[in-house]
Amino acid sequence: MSDKSDKDEKNEIRKDMSVDTKHINTNISSFFSLINLKEIRREIVQNENSKRTILRSRQEFIDVLNGKDDRFVVITGPCSIHDIEAAEEYALRLKKLIEKTHQHVLIFMRVYFEKPRTIVGWKGLINDPNLDGSFQVEEGLKRSRKMLINLSDENVYAATEMLDPITAAYLAELVGWAAIGARTTESQIHREMVSGLSVPVGFKNGTNGNLDVAMNAMRSSAHAHRFLGIDDEGRACIVKTSGNKHTHIVLRGGVGKPNYSNDKISVLEGLLDEQGLAKRIMVDCSHDNSGKNHERQKEVVRDILKQKENGNKSIFGIMLESNLKPGNQKLEVGKKLEYGVSITDKCIGWEENEDIVCEIADVIKGLQVSSGGNSSGDKLELETPKNTVVSKNL
Ligand code: PEP
Ligand code: MN
Repeated sequence: MSDKSDKDEKNEIRKDMSVDTKHINTNISSFFSLINLKEIRREIVQNENSKRTILRSRQEFIDVLNGKDDRFVVITGPCSIHDIEAAEEYALRLKKLIEKTHQHVLIFMRVYFEKPRTIVGWKGLINDPNLDGSFQVEEGLKRSRKMLINLSDENVYAATEMLDPITAAYLAELVGWAAIGARTTESQIHREMVSGLSVPVGFKNGTNGNLDVAMNAMRSSAHAHRFLGIDDEGRACIVKTSGNKHTHIVLRGGVGKPNYSNDKISVLEGLLDEQGLAKRIMVDCSHDNSGKNHERQKEVVRDILKQKENGNKSIFGIMLESNLKPGNQKLEVGKKLEYGVSITDKCIGWEENEDIVCEIADVIKGLQVSSGGNSSGDKLELETPKNTVVSKNL
C-alpha cells in the first residue's frame, strides 16, 4: 500500500531542508495543499432545496429538544459510511420510512464520515475514501459533500460526528445535527468548536461512563469562545463565537456497561437539574449500551419505550446503528467487501431497523393521542420540488 499517489505529488508542499530549518517539523514528512471552503462551494454547488432542508432539519430538532414538538427523535444509519452507493440506497429506503412515520418520529440518517479509533484503524471516508491507505483526503471531502447535498436534496435529514475541527468547517453547512464522540467530549478544542457550530449537538458520555464530561461540555459550549481556526479561504485565524444553546447529552454506556435504565436516567435528571441544564436526554442504543452486540439494540429501544409509556419526559430520542445488512465485516487488503455491511461497528440490518422505527412510531402515536399532541410532523415537506436535479444514485 502506498501512501502517496501521483495526485498527491502535485499538491505536495515540500519541506525546506536547509541547515537552519533542520530543527523544524522533524516528524512531518510533507504538507499537501487542500481545496478551501470557497473553492469547494464553487466546485460542488449546494442547491436551494438542500439549504432549505438543512435549515428545516435543525429547526425541527431544536423544536423537539425544547419540547415544542412532541415527536420522538430517531437517529439511525451506518456506524460509518464507506460505500456511497450503498449509503444512498439506504437513504432512499429511509426516505420511504420517513414518509410513513413522520408524524410520530423525527428521523435523521447517521452519515458518519470520520471515525475515532481506540488505537488505530481506518479513520473514515474523508481520511481514506478509497479504503486502501492512499489517504485521498481532498477526494474524501468532495465525496462527502456531494453525498450530503444529495441527501438533503431528497429531504433526508443528516446527522454526523464532528471529530476534526478543520473537517467540521467543511461539514457543518451540510448537516442538521452533530455528535461529539465519547473520546472527544472532554476536549476543550471540541467544546470551543461546538460553541460556534450552527447545528444542535449531542455530547456523548465518556467511554468510562463519566457523565460530568458531557454536562461540562454543554456548559462550556454554551459560552462564547475565542480560539484558532480557519476561515473560508483556508487561512489560520482567530475565531470568535457566540455560544451554542442547542446541546444535550447522549448516553452510550461505558466500560462495557449500559447506562439507560430507569434508575440511571433518574440520577442523570437530578444531575442535569443541579447544573441548571435542561432535562433532555438521548439514548444511543448501540456501543456499550448494547454490549457492542447489534442484536441487543432492540432490547434497549423496548426499555426506553417502556420508560416513555410509564411517563418519562426527559428522553427525547434514540440512536441506532443500522445498515442494509446486519453485522459487520473486516476491512482487509485484497478482500472484496460484502455490499451493505458495516466495516466498523456491528449494525442491525434494514428489515430490523424498519420494524424498530415502526414500533417506536406506534408507541409515540399512542402517547401523542393520550396527551392531546403537538406534532409538527404533518407540516413536513416530503416532495422534491420539480426544479431540482436529483443525482443518478439517489
Ligand atoms: C459512534 O457513534 O460510532 C461512536 C464511535 O460512538 P462513541 O463516540 O460513543 O464511541
Ligand atoms: Mn459505532
